[in-house]
Amino acid sequence: MDKKTKLQFIHDLPKVELHMHLEGSLEPELMFEIAKRNNVPIPFDSPEDIRKASVFNSLQEFLDLYYLGHKVFRTRRDFYDLIYSYFKRVSTSNLRHAELFFEAQEHTNRGVPLEEIVMGLHEGCVQAEKDFGITSDLILCLLRHFSPENMMDLLKQAVVFKKYIKGIGMSSSEAGCPPSLYVDIFKFAKEQGWHVTSHAGEIGPPEYVRDSIELLGIERCDHGIGARTDPEVVKLLADKKVGVTMCPISNVLLKVTESIPYSPIRQYLDANCKICFNSDDPSYFGSTYIEENYDAVEKEMGLSVAEWVKIAQDAIDMSWVEEDERKKLQDELDAVKLKYKLKELYGIE
Ligand SMILES: [Zn+2]
Repeated sequence: MDKKTKLQFIHDLPKVELHMHLEGSLEPELMFEIAKRNNVPIPFDSPEDIRKASVFNSLQEFLDLYYLGHKVFRTRRDFYDLIYSYFKRVSTSNLRHAELFFEAQEHTNRGVPLEEIVMGLHEGCVQAEKDFGITSDLILCLLRHFSPENMMDLLKQAVVFKKYIKGIGMSSSEAGCPPSLYVDIFKFAKEQGWHVTSHAGEIGPPEYVRDSIELLGIERCDHGIGARTDPEVVKLLADKKVGVTMCPISNVLLKVTESIPYSPIRQYLDANCKICFNSDDPSYFGSTYIEENYDAVEKEMGLSVAEWVKIAQDAIDMSWVEEDERKKLQDELDAVKLKYKLKELYGIE
């Protein structure tokens, strides 16, 4: 496949985003607009100033700016605008389905009612499906910089909104926060019928990935790159079919990996782990959304056509969609295989 055709093929793949923090898609212009209408002071004079500040030497430096951005949100409309802007932005990248993190604790702990957050986001999902044909689900993402008690309080409140929330995730800095602290939280989440995922091995060691699988029962591992130094943990990911939601551009810009080829993408593909590519916090990383991540991997690593099909398939398999929706996504992937004659030319079924 020549270079131009391959880029078109990558564009045409039905994309599924499984690791994106909605607050991380807050573009500077929208941050300014929401801050202004809510009379929230922010320490920047212009959207350009925020872009200039978005250069990070570590995950912690990023988190400091990132959580400052959360403070502008107050109302249902703010959350609606946030999620709708994201869908509008990615509507040209052939994104078909997204399971999106929202970080309620940062808002509820400031007094914003959970109902305003959940319903604003849900209304945005409904409208985006009508306008852009993208289906979506919400994942309540717990934050490790708050206590396990604070997490549990929020989860108990969230039970009322169960039908609007597909799963529970956990993020923020892993330093000093081993998975063993959160066993009761994940047990409670699973008892409610929620799916569960967790950031593990973004900067944490392989044991954090192993313990998230064995102690917390995660179905997906977000980032998961910390497993790479322990082949046994990589094997555990593959054997247990715990898919890894990788964020190639985020990892490089937060200095978690030296470069995209230096990340364990190749290692995980060779170990037959399920993996997919995602955007994490795109507005803070130079507005690099899902397609920019796909394109960056292709540019830096030149994956094979078969590997791209596997990654698109893995993302569908790793998603938490219902069966009718899964069939639709599968049909779209099969249509791309037909369009590019992948069976005749590459033997790809
Ligand atoms: Zn993340």
